[in-house]
Amino acid sequence: MAEEVKTLLPEEEGKNFIHNFIDEDIAEGGQFQGMTVHTRFPPEPNGYLHIGHCKAICIDFGTAEKYGGLCNLRMDDTNPAKEDTEYVDAIQQDIHWLGFDWGDRFFYGSDYFEKDYEYAVELIKKGLAYVCELTPEEFRQNRGDIGVPATSPYRDRPIEENLRLFEKMKNGEVEEGKMTLRAKIDLASGNFNMRDPIIYRVRYINHHRQGTKWCIFPMYDFAHPIQDALEGITHSLCTLEFEEHRPLYDWVVSHVSIPYHKPRQIEFARLGIDHTVMSKRKLRQLVEEHYVSGWDDPRMPTLCGLRRRGYTARSIRNFCERIGVSKAASTVEYGFLEHCLREDLNLTAERTMAVLHPVKLTVTNYPEGQSETFTVENNPTAPEQGTHEITFSRHLWVEAEDFMETPIPKYKRMYPGNEVRLKGAYLVTCTGCVKDENGNVVEVLCEYDPASRGGNPADGRKVKGATIHWVDAANCVDAEVRLYDNLFSDANPDAAPEGFLSVLNPESLAVLTGCKVEKAMVAVAQAFDKAADRTGVNAPTFQFMRNGYFCMDNRDCTADHLVFNRSVLLKDSFKK
Ligand code: ATP
Ligand code: MG
Repeated sequence: MAEEVKTLLPEEEGKNFIHNFIDEDIAEGGQFQGMTVHTRFPPEPNGYLHIGHCKAICIDFGTAEKYGGLCNLRMDDTNPAKEDTEYVDAIQQDIHWLGFDWGDRFFYGSDYFEKDYEYAVELIKKGLAYVCELTPEEFRQNRGDIGVPATSPYRDRPIEENLRLFEKMKNGEVEEGKMTLRAKIDLASGNFNMRDPIIYRVRYINHHRQGTKWCIFPMYDFAHPIQDALEGITHSLCTLEFEEHRPLYDWVVSHVSIPYHKPRQIEFARLGIDHTVMSKRKLRQLVEEHYVSGWDDPRMPTLCGLRRRGYTARSIRNFCERIGVSKAASTVEYGFLEHCLREDLNLTAERTMAVLHPVKLTVTNYPEGQSETFTVENNPTAPEQGTHEITFSRHLWVEAEDFMETPIPKYKRMYPGNEVRLKGAYLVTCTGCVKDENGNVVEVLCEYDPASRGGNPADGRKVKGATIHWVDAANCVDAEVRLYDNLFSDANPDAAPEGFLSVLNPESLAVLTGCKVEKAMVAVAQAFDKAADRTGVNAPTFQFMRNGYFCMDNRDCTADHLVFNRSVLLKDSFKK
């Protein structure tokens, strides 16, 4: 069962429409003349990064890399609710794991609160912002319609009064919801984001970094362009939902006096993958309501979940590279992500034999107590990865499904009278089986051909039977193996009429115990235990021949209790 050797597709030229825009900007000179291309990745620290964020990370950091520029990492923590330092640490860990680095350019959006405030005051002084007392309900009622302008009776308040009221908002003298600061732009704009948008609101809430220092918070649409401009970002790359906000972004950077160029916002399509959900709100619900074991449950599309499942950073970056960058929203098949992993692991994973559903195989003509050693290649696609030794003796473990007392048509594995090859060892002919009182097969019997060491018969006869993997019963240990399937049985859980939770796949996790793996795995687990941070790195990964790719579980696997996660099957279901 030699596996087909696949090589990585040649790297695409690596150009996309974002790069075309940047090339244009560079060619035009103008405000970007002599500037280094400078991007940023601005996650909100209210959850763990998922594969969708990876696309943005690869675009933000990848674009900077391509142009020899810089990319900042900025925690977008201006919205005080639900943010936590746990997430800040995890986000940094995941980005480093992916192989990107922001150097010393790590920022918090909240570090600019003072500046945001100053620019708000500046707008008021320029007559470009006013304090509005419409309640949220009234605000909605007065927002107008297509062709019908919005209204606010507070729009023409004198500047002095606006300054005084904004000061009161800042000083905690105004109740939540009673006043907002609005940019004075255009109540009749066809773009509702430009109809005097709210740029500040009152919230009495503890901020994870600023504590209770502030009770007014800038809105994203006001804070974000200011942050970009202050950091010298040249190209602010974001997802398509911000396209409608771009006029406001441009308005803000043009009207606050940051002594600087105006960053350019460019939007690209979000990544969607079938059979999963990507919104942090939904992922959090899965965690908090215990549908999964945590953010790093190996079924989650989070980076920590994918890592625990056995995904390599390289396979994920490759995936992001190959799905490309476009303006058209699309959903990528989960199978393609798996394809990218399989391709990577095929090149790197050490081959070993493990039996997931064991039944004993006794080689009746092999003397009790005798043992011999075989040398097997670690990876036939990469001979430089060397070899390792396995032992063979009278009692072995094989997969229960590799024996049938009465074979079905075309069955090529073990049944009485059939000769098969035990991978890397000998040819054996099945002679029968032993059953318990309930008729279950508890032991398969066979005889080996001593003149077929290595699997090649001395007389050159052709063996039609299958090649079967096995583990020496005298030299193995038990392991727990976790098999995963899609978390959702529906391809598009977001569209499920009864909600995404209604289409959770009840069979997304199967736990097998008493699986048999080579004893050498114990030492591997011991060595992995010494890793400083087991959850931040990839655990040792193997190809269990004929069964798929498996990695040690980076949380639960110990030398005393081996636990493996199935990363991906061998068979590629992805149709190119
Ligand atoms: P979610 O809906 O998962 O909470 P978000 O956009 O609110 O996503 P942020 O932390 O604000 O999450 O995202 C940080 C950056 O990652 C943003 O620039 C956002 O555009 C980008 N991003 C988030 N989800 C995706 C996705 N599915 N595909 C591509 N980029 C994404
Ligand atoms: Mg967001």
